[in-house]
Amino acid sequence: MTDPSVTQRVEQLRALLTRYNREYYELDAPTVPDAEYDRLFRELQALEQQHPELSHSHSPTQKVGSAPLDAFTQVQHEAPMLSLDNAFSDEEFNAFSKRVNERLDTAAAVTYCCEPKLDGAAVSLLYEDGKLVRGATRGDGQVGEDITSNVRTIRNLPLQLQGDYPARLEVRGEVFMPVKAFADYNDKALAAGEKTFANPRNAAAGSLRQLDSRITAQRPLHFYAYGMGVVSAEQVLADSHYQRLQQLSDWGLPISAEVKQVSDAEGCSAYYQDILQRREQLRYEIDGVVFKVDNIKQQQDLGFVSRAPRWAIAWKFPAQEEMTVLHGVDFQV
Ligand code: NAD
Repeated sequence: MTDPSVTQRVEQLRALLTRYNREYYELDAPTVPDAEYDRLFRELQALEQQHPELSHSHSPTQKVGSAPLDAFTQVQHEAPMLSLDNAFSDEEFNAFSKRVNERLDTAAAVTYCCEPKLDGAAVSLLYEDGKLVRGATRGDGQVGEDITSNVRTIRNLPLQLQGDYPARLEVRGEVFMPVKAFADYNDKALAAGEKTFANPRNAAAGSLRQLDSRITAQRPLHFYAYGMGVVSAEQVLADSHYQRLQQLSDWGLPISAEVKQVSDAEGCSAYYQDILQRREQLRYEIDGVVFKVDNIKQQQDLGFVSRAPRWAIAWKFPAQEEMTVLHGVDFQV
């Protein structure tokens, strides 16, 4: 029988994380730092692994994001928009890359695509005959919110593709607020006695989920693509994730200049160190880097678990802030 104190702690953690998810995803107003959320999430994951009898499909460890708000029209994603598993150390990244080799049943080096982990909000953009016809949030991964009129206001996001694009193309990427634009926005808001944002991530997510797109239009949002969802004419697509990002770029979609292909897991570690050192100089906030098995056939062989692909991992940076002020409350990280 499970120790009642363990059951109680699991219930307590689930209740806490459910509340934090709502504050973060639905209200765009978190009350705890991400590092604290991550710590509690991992504690719950560990307890569920040690006590499989307590596992539950409704646990926050099995879910992505949060349900869409009723105020928006709902969009059913044709392919789910998932989360990413996390690594917080060399050991955890090495364990991931070892699992990849084992699952692929190969001792050969695996090529990875390395990308900055942009700290904003995930969006799905649907292009039909080259025209942007729909924008949606990730929501709970299955159903998102229709934010078409809002994404249309993002200046570096093309309304019309160029070149030899597929007739139907779903692009996935991140909407974010560059650091300088965020600081300028908050300065102006403060001077005008308006609401300021706690950080660029909340500014981006909050600006994107406005019911009035004229408000979104006034916010300095940017977009970078990092993948594809459903695509007609799969045959035109490259068999490497890195090359697919170059194809998106050829069709007019902005991608980060920091995207890089490396030939093995050691290349990933070097990329992590390099970006960590240059973190402060980047125009946008990142909370880590993402590594994706580059070969699409290998990605398909690896597949997914409930909330994340097995072929990718986010290697998170150490928490940056010693003390962050969120909505007037101080938090020690
Ligand atoms: P995640 O942020 O760990 O990773 C998945 C997301 O990464 C994707 O949805 C996408 O938006 C983003 N991403 C950025 N760059 C990417 C790239 N190059 N390729 C692919 N994806 C990229 O997962 P999540 O499920 O969105 O959120 C979980 C995290 O959010 C937690 O680890 C925590 O840090 C934070 N969170 C905080 C609170 C809080 O109360 N402070 C609450 C909930 C979640």
